[in-house]
Amino acid sequence: MSETPAGWACSGERQKARMGTSDIMQPGFLSIRSLTKRYETMVAVDNLNLEIPKGELVAFLGPSGCGKSTSLRMIAGLAPVTSGSILIDGKDVTQLAPYKRDIGLVFQSYALFPHMTVLKNVMFGLEMRKVPAAEAERRAREAIAMVRLEGREDRRPAQLSGGQQQRVALARALVIQPSILLFDEPLSNLDAKLRDEMRSEIRRIQKQLGITSIFVTHDQVEALSMCDKVAVLNGGRLEQLGTPHDLYERPATAFVASFVGRTNRLVGNAAGDHITVGDAVLRAPGSHNGTIDLMVRPHRMAMTVAGDAAPDFDGAPVNRIAGEVRDVYYAGDILHYEIAAGGQTLSVERATSGGETPVAAGSAVSLVWRVEDTLVFGANQ
Ligand code: ADP
Repeated sequence: MSETPAGWACSGERQKARMGTSDIMQPGFLSIRSLTKRYETMVAVDNLNLEIPKGELVAFLGPSGCGKSTSLRMIAGLAPVTSGSILIDGKDVTQLAPYKRDIGLVFQSYALFPHMTVLKNVMFGLEMRKVPAAEAERRAREAIAMVRLEGREDRRPAQLSGGQQQRVALARALVIQPSILLFDEPLSNLDAKLRDEMRSEIRRIQKQLGITSIFVTHDQVEALSMCDKVAVLNGGRLEQLGTPHDLYERPATAFVASFVGRTNRLVGNAAGDHITVGDAVLRAPGSHNGTIDLMVRPHRMAMTVAGDAAPDFDGAPVNRIAGEVRDVYYAGDILHYEIAAGGQTLSVERATSGGETPVAAGSAVSLVWRVEDTLVFGANQ
């Protein structure tokens, strides 16, 4: 289905967003201002500020316990805020009951009614809102079609796979035509293949309907591949909000650099544009002083052995450090090398071609990468 069903045009605003007019880019359809949650002595969410434009899908990404679910629960109205406010389309909803917030929720546990059919499960929210039965059924059937479950309307949840049950949960959230959709780790119970499928389904439907959405996950691949922007949380605080590209290429903190994607870390001593790491003198964009953390993505490092041609980086300035192979393991598409260099152990990846002989443990190698790919952070950041 490539078109949005006519019945989904519930407001002029949403229609404009769906059609991709400039309204979609207006900041702050969902505004989260100084949002804080304290549990006795611990601060679960600490002064969170976010402005989410209409139609955007934003991930809340971070390790377990960083405050993702608590933030989501406050936005949904399921947990009272300690301080701060939540605005939807300019209206302060901080003190509103959950059902008055016009929010759809999709959880990890599908929370379907086991004794009801798929159709009845999806209709339930509309019946609660006193939508006439015929209209409720028509809208429920549309939502079921949108999640591609036509033909299964009369089944009960136990007769469906986990992925199908999650689709019913999604249809149930969509059917009320919410202005905000909140997802709390909705794919964690699914196997890898189904997770991939559901990621693209959720993104397809979210874009088709233009519903402003937050997607909580601890899985960086999920956050990067699905979402327009990612908010990285750590210890209840927002570390960075940015596009997947921003987070990966220009991480604002050492935490973001190491949590989003894999990274090699070297400790060095900086004086202006020179950084000393062991015997090597390296460079990085900008000027730095004192003890620093220097980070490079493993796949951005080339590895050469004596006799190899120098790697071609199109003439870009490069860093070079000598090392020794400690270990090598084969992962099909890639060979992973563990290299001792600059007093630390670094990872390097090389794509396999099928005919190569891996560089043996104990070999002397050079690691080379572009100065531009060198990230620098204060040592205590
Ligand atoms: P995440 O979703 O990122 O895993 P949560 O938002 O669930 O993290 O939790 C953030 C912090 O708040 C954790 O340290 C957690 O133990 C704490 N927390 C969550 N709910 C409660 C509660 N009801 N009472 C006390 N502490 C809580």
